Amino acid sequence: MSLDATWVVAWMTAAAAAIADQAPTLNDLDRAIGDGDHGENMNRGFTAVRDAVRELPDGAQPAEVLRASAMKLISSVGGAAGPLYGTALLRASDAVAGLSEVDSAHVLALLEAALGGIEDRGHAAPGDKTMVDAWSVAVDAARSAVAEGRTSAEILDAAADGAESGAETTDAMLPHKGRASYLGERAVGHRDPGAVSTAIILLAAAEAAK
Ligand code: ADP
Ligand code: MG
Repeated sequence: MSLDATWVVAWMTAAAAAIADQAPTLNDLDRAIGDGDHGENMNRGFTAVRDAVRELPDGAQPAEVLRASAMKLISSVGGAAGPLYGTALLRASDAVAGLSEVDSAHVLALLEAALGGIEDRGHAAPGDKTMVDAWSVAVDAARSAVAEGRTSAEILDAAADGAESGAETTDAMLPHKGRASYLGERAVGHRDPGAVSTAIILLAAAEAAK
């Protein structure tokens, strides 16, 4: 399957369904080390994204779907995650500007750009116990998959697996950014909610490519 705008629409739609399903879990994770609203925030945002991508005209390009999704996340999520994911998708959109199909090199470029946007916006580094810990492992895994000559769908699978293991590594980390950082040692042993939502979103990207 070629990755065109239909893929991006399917990605956002699948992400919205998975986030809605797992919103209670994301709230619970955020209740342990934050303020308990991550699932609610993400569900509000991705419901708006799902509705917006449905309305896009036929013939819209991948970059346009990503941009429309980014704008919805920025305007509707609230909380730290909205501008972070919004910036990620805006940069992802720029990385595939003008293309009607996203090839394997551009799948990697899209993921790298998304991570770069999150880092520029939030100034978190790997090890800070944030969504960056999921994204950075995802991007490394995608880079290796590209070097091995994998297909776009396989690259997305590798990224999704990477995000999942990256999210798991946040359990042991001391938080250095966001609300969790106020808890210090008390946050150790808990998984970062944004890293988990990243794994959900990247799994949706991989599933949508099948
Ligand atoms: P809020 O903390 O405002 O309630 P959310 O609960 O929606 O926002 O999102 C919390 C998540 O945002 C965290 O789990 C973490 O992954 C992510 N996050 C917070 N601050 C940063 C940052 N500076 N850089 C990257 N990610 C961050
Ligand atoms: Mg929160």
